[in-house]
Amino acid sequence: MYILVINTGSSSVKFTLFDMTAPAALASGLVERIGLTGTELHYRNGKGHSHRGEVVVRDTTEAVGIITAHLTHRDYGVIQSLGEIAAVGHRVVHGGEEVNQPVIVDDEVKRIIETCFELAPLHNPFNLKGIEACEASLPGVPQVAVFDTAFHATIPRHAYLYGLPYRMVKEHRIRRYGFHGTSHKFVSAEAARFLEVPLAELKIVTCHLGNGCSITAVDGGRSVDTSMGFTPLEGVIMGTRCGDIDPAIIFFLMDHKHMGPEEVNDLLNKKSGLLGLADVGSSDLRDIMAARAKGNQQADIAVRTFCYRIKKYIGAYAAAMGGLDVIVFTAGIGENSPPVRELVCDGLGDRTRGLGITVDHAKNTAGNGKLGAIHSDESRVKVLVVPTNEEQEIANQTVDVLRARH
Ligand code: AMP
Repeated sequence: MYILVINTGSSSVKFTLFDMTAPAALASGLVERIGLTGTELHYRNGKGHSHRGEVVVRDTTEAVGIITAHLTHRDYGVIQSLGEIAAVGHRVVHGGEEVNQPVIVDDEVKRIIETCFELAPLHNPFNLKGIEACEASLPGVPQVAVFDTAFHATIPRHAYLYGLPYRMVKEHRIRRYGFHGTSHKFVSAEAARFLEVPLAELKIVTCHLGNGCSITAVDGGRSVDTSMGFTPLEGVIMGTRCGDIDPAIIFFLMDHKHMGPEEVNDLLNKKSGLLGLADVGSSDLRDIMAARAKGNQQADIAVRTFCYRIKKYIGAYAAAMGGLDVIVFTAGIGENSPPVRELVCDGLGDRTRGLGITVDHAKNTAGNGKLGAIHSDESRVKVLVVPTNEEQEIANQTVDVLRARH
């Protein structure tokens, strides 16, 4: 069964075609800078062919058209006709309170995606465009929406409410939603599989540390709390986002520094986090680590602050779940940075008064980027590196939806 996974952003369309009986993707790539100068397509198939180059693509529909033309191309295509694709799985960021699972797209689902435009203005409108473009290019092929927020639908009310007047949630839908759900779901299931323990028996904290970062408490396979909130701005410190701050800072900046709402929004979302703290001109942890290695004090403080905030969430979620069995590190930083993993877990080793988490230095360094355990033999809590694969998870969930239909 062939499943096409599509992730449409404001100026890009990413794609992966899976043969669900094969371990590796048949083809993948992206069209980027859509509607801008220098629009490029990157294409790679599973047989070793890859190319990138400029293309003339004005909108999402044309991007999907060029992607499908590549997939069926006589020389480097991987299928004969688009009719071989059983379904298209779409990443959709926000499903609000109305959807808690993947669904086949119909008019009602499109309406729900649209009602969430105000909750995810930078994502949902483009996700819907991607769905409509695929409906046009692949008529009759089921389109499945897989929501980033859906995995967090199980978060109990006491964890999703803010200390705001209750009517705020009723009238304005202001509550914690959480994001990166597809990744947290995938890596928690992978962790259970790796440990050969049923997911239902595990209390896991999943740390998705990429450019965006979020931490989730997964109790028995269900998300019971997560660090991102009403928007992805809340939680731990990220590449350019500030994470948790005292909301009064915003009014201080507006009243005393005469910044407007747009300016503050830009500061908190795009100029803060590791970028702002380290001040080395980059939000990429590799650049910050390189500066730190050369003795840059501010880079060191930024890394320590970043790791300390993650540590606090691990402690909070161990309390929220009444215990902890596994910590999972995933995404760009989580999978590839041994020093971050070590600093996050540093000082948590005490088994009698602490959390009983000890990372083995050699395993941590050797176990970079691949699925494996990095805790020491005496560690009570298992610490794992689990590469995330959101595309694979979207494909898996798309197949589940198709099967449930029959
Ligand atoms: P993601 O959003 O999951 O693609 O993660 C992207 C981020 O991962 C980059 O901005 C880097 O900060 C980080 N990253 C990727 N590779 C490494 C590495 N080898 N060491 C440290 N950080 C890395």
